Amino acid sequence: LKKRFEKALGLLKNKGKLTEEDVSEAVREVRRALLEGDVSLKVAKELTQKIKERATQREVLDSITPAQQIQAIVYEELVNLMGGKTSKGIVFAPKPPTVCMMVGLQGAGKTTTCVKIAKKLKGGHKPLVVACDLKRPAAVEQLQILANTAGVGFFGPKAGEGDLKKLIRDAMEYAASRLHDVIILDTAGRLHIDDELMRELVEIKEIASPTEIMLVLDAMTGQEAIRVAEAFHGELALTGLILTKMDGDARGGALLSAKAVADVPVKYIGVGEKLDDIEVFDPEQMAQRILGMGDLKALAEKVKEAAEGVDMEKVAKSLTKGKLTMEDLLQQIRQIKRMGPLEKIVEMLPGGGKIKELAGSEMDDKRLKHIEAVILSMTPEERRNPKIIKGSRRKRIAYGSGTSVQMVNQVLSYHKNMNEIFKQLKGRKGKGFRLPKGL
Ligand code: GDP
Ligand code: MG
Repeated sequence: LKKRFEKALGLLKNKGKLTEEDVSEAVREVRRALLEGDVSLKVAKELTQKIKERATQREVLDSITPAQQIQAIVYEELVNLMGGKTSKGIVFAPKPPTVCMMVGLQGAGKTTTCVKIAKKLKGGHKPLVVACDLKRPAAVEQLQILANTAGVGFFGPKAGEGDLKKLIRDAMEYAASRLHDVIILDTAGRLHIDDELMRELVEIKEIASPTEIMLVLDAMTGQEAIRVAEAFHGELALTGLILTKMDGDARGGALLSAKAVADVPVKYIGVGEKLDDIEVFDPEQMAQRILGMGDLKALAEKVKEAAEGVDMEKVAKSLTKGKLTMEDLLQQIRQIKRMGPLEKIVEMLPGGGKIKELAGSEMDDKRLKHIEAVILSMTPEERRNPKIIKGSRRKRIAYGSGTSVQMVNQVLSYHKNMNEIFKQLKGRKGKGFRLPKGL
């Protein structure tokens, strides 16, 4: 999936301005990537439609490549699709106890997740896990052992007990007498959805009136997750999803698809077999995981920042002058600096490591600081008219800026080159400009 996205965005990497065709092509690749990642066709279509609309509307920004912009859009839309920015755990009942019912197919991770959540809540609450499986003593025992390990309360059926209603009433009483404020019900699963399973779950729901009904889904389930989510949501009206085994090489598409079917928030993800291996679901983190592209959140923020920070008017003004002063140059450097260490930005790009290798020391943030220092050490007159900066002035500036004469020379020649470019650009007002490779 990651490779696909890299390919999609790679198509745009060297484009200065996006045409509709560029966007279409990239969006097609993004769609293919989503489908390969087990996202359902419907979801993939909706998502790519949104991305396309936004991408063609958006202006090309200075200093952010189109590929980066599309990447940021894809990321933002994925985050939206998965439930926006806020992380969600259990919603507690206004009046305790909060009853939380865990449902799902066999092997999805219900039993493990019950205890994981209980353990997580242990600090501020007094959770009780309840085994609601009357047919498999081994399942009851599994929950009990895990609960003991985690140090959380456990309640289960007596040997030979066959009455679900009684079991749940007993559990409620037990919880009340011991001041458990969160009750987590572990239910039985089946390999396939069947009527008997659903009847049993509906019965438990009626008796226990849970605050939360969460469907536990194995991340490896893939497209099957849609059917599972549909069936459970139809019978039980789910309040949340939990995706387990995200530590495997699961593709995460199951989550997107199930979310789209049930349209309930994803609450937790399981990320390992140990009882601490659970996280409150964070759509931003998940989007990054699905896209497999490093710190996309930071990148999205930078895109926004840069969009706000570019002073196009000033740029246009110096363009009409056909002359770039040292002050302009200083502005430019500061703009780059505002976007954070260049290295970091480059690292966030697909294949960023390679770019960095090629660019070597020129991407160095320290270098930007040096350039800035050199310009700041010039007198206003020198900045207006750099031609007067000869030998002794160069030495003074080098000394004052804590750099070297060589550095001063580099800044001067860089300025000169930039001015050449500016002369050529004169008249093409408002088109924006990009720093040449040398910096
Ligand atoms: P249930 O049948 O739905 O109750 O599923 P279980 O809780 O018994 O889990 C089935 C298997 O999946 C067990 O071996 C668990 O250890 C494992 N499991 C559950 N959640 C995770 C997870 O997030 N990551 C990994 N690697 N394994 C998990
Ligand atoms: Mg179980």
